[in-house]
Amino acid sequence: MIPSKSLKIMASRMLGSKIALRSDYGPFIGGAKFIKGEGTPLPVESPSTCSNITTVSTPSSAQIASTLDLAQLTFDSGVWSRSSALSRSKVLAKLAVLLEEKVPELAEMESLNTGRAVRELKAQLGRLPDWLSYFAAVLRTTEGTVMPTEGEILNYVKRQPLGVVVQIAPFNHPLLIAVKKIAPALAAGNSVIVKPSELTPLTLLEFGLLATKAGIPDGVLCILPGEGRTVGKELVVDRRVKKIDLTGGTETGRVIGAIAGGNLASYTAELGGKAPIIVFEDSDLQNAVNGVCFASFVASGQTCVSGTRIIVQDSIYDEFMAKLKEKVASIERRMGDPLNPLSSMGPLISRPQLSKSEGIVASSLAEGLTVECGGKRMNGPSPLDGFDLGGGYFFQPTVLSGDGVVGSKVWKEEIFGPVICVSKFSDEADAIKKANDCDFGLGAAIWTSNGARGHRVAGLLDSGLVWINSHHRNDPSSPWGGMKDSGIGRENGMEAYRSYTQSKSVIMNVASEEKTRANDDWFSDSKLDVRYG
Ligand code: NDP
Repeated sequence: MIPSKSLKIMASRMLGSKIALRSDYGPFIGGAKFIKGEGTPLPVESPSTCSNITTVSTPSSAQIASTLDLAQLTFDSGVWSRSSALSRSKVLAKLAVLLEEKVPELAEMESLNTGRAVRELKAQLGRLPDWLSYFAAVLRTTEGTVMPTEGEILNYVKRQPLGVVVQIAPFNHPLLIAVKKIAPALAAGNSVIVKPSELTPLTLLEFGLLATKAGIPDGVLCILPGEGRTVGKELVVDRRVKKIDLTGGTETGRVIGAIAGGNLASYTAELGGKAPIIVFEDSDLQNAVNGVCFASFVASGQTCVSGTRIIVQDSIYDEFMAKLKEKVASIERRMGDPLNPLSSMGPLISRPQLSKSEGIVASSLAEGLTVECGGKRMNGPSPLDGFDLGGGYFFQPTVLSGDGVVGSKVWKEEIFGPVICVSKFSDEADAIKKANDCDFGLGAAIWTSNGARGHRVAGLLDSGLVWINSHHRNDPSSPWGGMKDSGIGRENGMEAYRSYTQSKSVIMNVASEEKTRANDDWFSDSKLDVRYG
């Protein structure tokens, strides 16, 4: 238990919500508390007020090296890696229950740290225990394989854990993405070291304490907060690391991929996106507008599957745009304190992300595009609750359009903000061509009431995920990952579990000793037709 006097109480300015932040956040290597990191302390900011909410201690190089030693020793000891599937399953199931109890508190903490509307986080984090329960169930139901080998040979295949694995998480869904990675890695029996984003380390550190309570042995799950260029880099270059699992930007993906390749480590990379949404004239227009707004503005556009290229059939373009602008205005009217359960959308995570949104609007204007709505940093009191929007990195939900939109900068580059562009298409082939006109290939959506068309077009889109009349549906069983520059490998489901294991093929001769002597002596004086291979 952390003594109550080490809890610092943060009050949300407008609503007086009490969020308990500890004063001793630091590296987690197991146990019931954090260790004191000897690296450069990390100030943690709330983007809704631009104020420091706590400081996290980070590990020194020596502490990073000793965490890798600990993870390897723990793996080699077999305390988790060779424990029975049933016992690992029970611990993960217990962790799911503990996490479920803590979701309301963690959602508020994550809202304070990311600036995302608390309503989003309550809904998102509420799903997370499912990932732990799913992989607990995988452990109870996965069966081994006996191969159809010829002759008197028994060949069975076991799956074994990899060893020490490193997971690197981004800022936008701090706990969701970490738990998506941690659950299959722990289920498979690995020792896991996670580095959260320097901007949003808090909820994952809290999760570490829950893992201890659930019965994860010390050293099996370690969480090292800090910067990518220091802590992250020192972890991924270590040659003992058998797999690196990154979610982050495409450039980060290339840098870490080169290191993983050099070390012959396995690599999963969930990278950037620029999701197209195709709206056909036969779609239910209001549902399509609502779906586009959810896709584009949830998390202030800071999701990898954010719907940023809206491709609308020309026959309904004007009606669609009018409805879209009406809906966007209603989102903007309800922006306020992210901790207000009625708040619709929060600020951007940081000043550089705010500048990126401001910059893309300026460059789009220079390219001749039109700002249909939004386009500016927000100032003054919120119409919802009087919250000082100018005190945080709030940016208006923004819609750009124009004849030159296809191929423009906002069409091609991932902005990671609430800035979308809308273009027209004439027929199905034109829609598919425009949707695929992009280096990324993560998420895509299609709005249509024609089921055959929905499936036909889905089959032709260069995207790892395609939603029809929906967006951003996710499930522990459903593969998640991108094509093209959006990454390699998949999260979720059996693919993720298998990617955290390696096969071992065990082949045994089951012929009698007499038969073996008669048939298997390769250097026999008399018999030449002896089996080889
Ligand atoms: P970044 O690429 O900036 O960072 C991702 C993580 O990598 C952070 O923890 C970062 O550390 C770390 N990192 C950066 N450089 C290195 C390095 N050289 N060695 C080791 N670690 C490093 O991404 P953001 O955090 O800004 O997240 C946004 C990006 O993530 C977007 O491109 C988005 O599309 C993508 N994303 C993809 C998803 C998917 O499922 N495909 C889902 C969610 C986001 P730090 O920042 O702490 O310094």
